[in-house]
Amino acid sequence: MISKSNPDHEISHLTQDICEVILTSQEIQSRVQELGTLLSRDYAGKDPVLVGVLKGVLVFMADLVRAISIPVSVDFMAVSSYGPTSGRQGVVRITKDLDESIMGRHVILVEDIVDTGLTLGYLVKNLQARNPASLSVCALFDKKVRRLVDVDIAYRGFELPDRFVVGYGLDYGERYRNLPFVGIMTPEAYER
Ligand code: 5GP
Repeated sequence: MISKSNPDHEISHLTQDICEVILTSQEIQSRVQELGTLLSRDYAGKDPVLVGVLKGVLVFMADLVRAISIPVSVDFMAVSSYGPTSGRQGVVRITKDLDESIMGRHVILVEDIVDTGLTLGYLVKNLQARNPASLSVCALFDKKVRRLVDVDIAYRGFELPDRFVVGYGLDYGERYRNLPFVGIMTPEAYER
């Protein structure tokens, strides 16, 4: 429980599990503002729909929509891979589909992190088949060196090294999503 005398108590407890900060909250916030400005310019008059991929995108989406100054709508999908083997072939299962049709709409697919690109590759094909007016990808973090599938990322926040990161929506066992920065976990934290 968060104590009244120290509301940051739980966050500082989580912070102990981080041995290296890769991107500070300020760095992320300023890049998200830039992405919002770019999208506002490129999609002016187009009434785009931002499609977020749950759950990792939740923090990025919340900040991104507030950095966009034109009318937008928001929808979400959730996916899970069928397993390690099928996952490698990019077979993912949609566990939550969009609420609204995207036919004829300008769609911006919003992702937290692109690793192999298998998830994104599958989603791009899936959404393209629904005949949107246009489809582009906005991904905050990109581990380019890990890419197996070539996917076009029109709006990219940061390129990351090939290391497992948590924070700003990214989890390990559902923890750490609420850290405002992105970092690397200590070896001990994996054992908890
Ligand atoms: P891909 O299909 O591109 O290989 O995988 C993308 C998904 O893998 C992301 O949406 C995310 O859930 C997970 N992922 C990849 N790299 C990381 C990472 O460094 N940290 C965390 N927390 N998740 C990651």
